Amino acid sequence: MTPRATVVENVAVAPVAGPEITRGYLHIEDGRVAALGEGPAPDVPGAERVDGTGCLATPGLVNTHHHLYQWATQGVAQDATLFEWLTALYQVWAAMDAEVVNGAATAGLGWLALSGCTTTTDHHYVFPSGRGDLFAAEIDAARDIGVRFHPCRGSMDRGASDGGLPPDEVVETLEEILDATAEAIDTYHDPAPGSMLRVAVAPCSPFSVTGRLMTEAASLARDKGVRLHTHLCETLDEEEHCLAQMGCAPVDYMEKLGWLGPDVWVAHAVHLRDRDITRFAETGTGTAHCPSSNGRLGAGIARVSELLRAGAIVGLGVDGSASSELTPLSGEMRQSLLFQRARYGPTALTARQALETATLGGARCLGRDDIGTLEPGKQADVVLWRVDGFRSAVDDPVGALVLGPPPPVARVMVAGRTIVEAGELRTVPQDTAAEAGATAHRRLLELAAGQGHTVAGEVHG
Ligand SMILES: [Zn+2]
Repeated sequence: MTPRATVVENVAVAPVAGPEITRGYLHIEDGRVAALGEGPAPDVPGAERVDGTGCLATPGLVNTHHHLYQWATQGVAQDATLFEWLTALYQVWAAMDAEVVNGAATAGLGWLALSGCTTTTDHHYVFPSGRGDLFAAEIDAARDIGVRFHPCRGSMDRGASDGGLPPDEVVETLEEILDATAEAIDTYHDPAPGSMLRVAVAPCSPFSVTGRLMTEAASLARDKGVRLHTHLCETLDEEEHCLAQMGCAPVDYMEKLGWLGPDVWVAHAVHLRDRDITRFAETGTGTAHCPSSNGRLGAGIARVSELLRAGAIVGLGVDGSASSELTPLSGEMRQSLLFQRARYGPTALTARQALETATLGGARCLGRDDIGTLEPGKQADVVLWRVDGFRSAVDDPVGALVLGPPPPVARVMVAGRTIVEAGELRTVPQDTAAEAGATAHRRLLELAAGQGHTVAGEVHG
């Protein structure tokens, strides 16, 4: 049972908007933030009282890019480039069914919640026919874990015979994609404030999708009033592919197709030219920055500090677990800070900027004004981080959160409902979530082997 009101007292608060609180309170009522301030907490009759001594409260983290099904294929093609890695995995993924997706998503979403994530997107783009309702399978998992969910109906329609990277067996036809995407929006999308589920339209990437699908997907999304997501400028291989096959650089190509704008956010944006940064800022196009994945695949690192300086929107993402194994979203704040400083120097990104990209920046990528900060009226998506114990030698709690490895999580709340407490999932038994992921892994490898595909021998690229 979620209490109608909760008061967290004796707590430090980094609300992301407004002044930070050294030792004060956070009052939650009916799933929203009612008040926060310095000093003793008000008396709220009937409220659950939580002692936040030793904790820092922040807005819940927002994950802006993921592929939950990839939980089932972690640790493969360990030394591969993106294109080599994809080529090793496409046909294994083609064997997935709804059971695999539900198990992988349960583990992946549980893992995210444990790292302070309260809202996540997912980009699912492999839909082998006759394998059950894969989109519904991940939505069921999100409801069980209790996070806010923005599943993106992904797609690929440009197989190898059309010059694309994926084998023909894993692509769908344009008509199938548009029908299924419209149906997903009509069935699940909830635009209301405080929504727990919003759908986005997400053709996979310039090298796996036709230009026609990109334009038709954009008009479908705009007709329905939902957002657009894709991969863009992840690697130099992609840039070469675009120059050779489309005759222009990736951002120019996407601009021609109507894919820059305030309703678009793209994953990675590593290889941007100076004028691309300006256009992202001017058009309100968001970037899902995935530093661990970019590092794992040796893709390069996004020009985040330049994007932020230009006024562009940047959020953080863990990316799929097969290109960024077991990445805690909380740890991506530190990764982004370290990578930016390695590239630009010690003032490139502050701990507070890293926290802002992980919260408010992510909310803006997803087009939400009801989450991402702790202000009266916003959704009560809150994380209490333990910054005592070994971390108590750092006086600045935001520094303790971002500069070192992620602190333990005392509590995670979504709309005031506790989904993690004392570092343990409260919605689904933690062992059950972990086992669901392991079972999904074994099942997918068996299904793939049955179709003659294996990842054996691919372990080292
Ligand atoms: Zn991705």
